[in-house]
Amino acid sequence: KNPCHIALIGATGSVGSSVLDICRAFPEKFKIIFLVAHRNALKMNDLIHEFHPIGAALTDREAASILRTLQSEVSVYETDDDLEYIVTHPEIDHVVFASSGTAAIKALQKALLADKNVSLANKESIVVAAPWVMPLVRRTDQLRPLDSEHNAIWQCLQGEDKETVEEIYLTASGGPFRTYDQKALRHVTPEMALAHPVWDMGYKVSIDSATLMNKGIEIIEAMYLFDLEHTQVKAVICPGSIVHGIVRFTDGTLKMAASTPDMRLAAATALSYPGRLRLSALPQIMPLSVHSLTVQFYPPDEKLFPCLALAKEAARKKGPYPSLLVGADEVAVDAFLRREISFTQISLVIEQVLSSYNDNAPQTLEESLIILERGRERARALIRSAGRCGK
Ligand code: NDP
Ligand code: MG
Repeated sequence: KNPCHIALIGATGSVGSSVLDICRAFPEKFKIIFLVAHRNALKMNDLIHEFHPIGAALTDREAASILRTLQSEVSVYETDDDLEYIVTHPEIDHVVFASSGTAAIKALQKALLADKNVSLANKESIVVAAPWVMPLVRRTDQLRPLDSEHNAIWQCLQGEDKETVEEIYLTASGGPFRTYDQKALRHVTPEMALAHPVWDMGYKVSIDSATLMNKGIEIIEAMYLFDLEHTQVKAVICPGSIVHGIVRFTDGTLKMAASTPDMRLAAATALSYPGRLRLSALPQIMPLSVHSLTVQFYPPDEKLFPCLALAKEAARKKGPYPSLLVGADEVAVDAFLRREISFTQISLVIEQVLSSYNDNAPQTLEESLIILERGRERARALIRSAGRCGK
């Protein structure tokens, strides 16, 4: 449909801004109908004035009431039921999940059940809830990955037979500490970790990129999105992040997707599929010149960045481990940002949470969410006791 009617969850965040840039540049193709965020009422207010949606939601109650005092142009929503109403609204063609955390899992299920097209950046939701989300995907073009590596793999797989996929590679820039040694890593500050060499992202995913946990979480995400075994999904370092994903087929062919590292490109391919947009309409996206392309790949150093090894182990064991990993990582990253633990302690906390767990695999989404919460609680308890010991 032209224009395509969009509900954007996570509108005030980093990925949300990329999606809005595409909508801003192509108003004849995309129309924002609903905007959703958590608590940034001021930014939401600005977005409402610019995009004139029919409704906006802030999932934080207090922020929603502040937003109501700021403007009277649109309906303001706030509850989980409201979110379900938004993503299943008959006016909506396409729901974009660009929120962080796992709060949007139920809305993601509802959107798929309502046969909406879905673009998904929110990797935590897939890692925690894939067994209860992926079976709801009805059409091959319904779920479009926005995470840049998965978006690249998705593009490479178009028109291909899944049975001919041997393995896939997700590239990583290596983060700001690619060339550090163990000793230097101990003195890394949150400011240093947040200064990513290639991507400008939210806090959580920036720290995860620096520890390589982001790549680990993405391995699990890819396994579920593309229905692959853990042995078929590999991580590889590509400084500069020009190549985003590679597929090796059974005949030995490597198909890879390369582009300027900019989330607006991933957003554009997902929103405009099966067409493509002319992105020269957007400022600051320099197309790659073929003549200046030199790409090198390196294996990641799992000794220096143990988070990647921990996530690969969770991918191998599945069961409760992906949810535990996400819960423990969320708390450990938060503690690092608050300067309660050091950079190298992030992986130690997660390792202890994973190794002290021997419960069963979750049978339902609710059980998976309980395990996620246990991962958080155990990480908090470990950090508290380390604090008491003065470590
Ligand atoms: P940000 O922290 O920049 O933004 C998060 C967004 O989610 C904000 O709009 C925030 O609202 C909203 N939000 C948070 N909690 C809720 C909730 N409970 N309900 C509704 N909305 C909520 O994150 P990023 O944009 O960096 O990342 C978003 C997701 O995309 C993450 O899952 C991340 O892993 C993934 N991703 C990010 C990439 C990037 O380049 N940044 C690349 C690939 C994937 P508010 O501002 O009001 O708090
Ligand atoms: Mg990514």
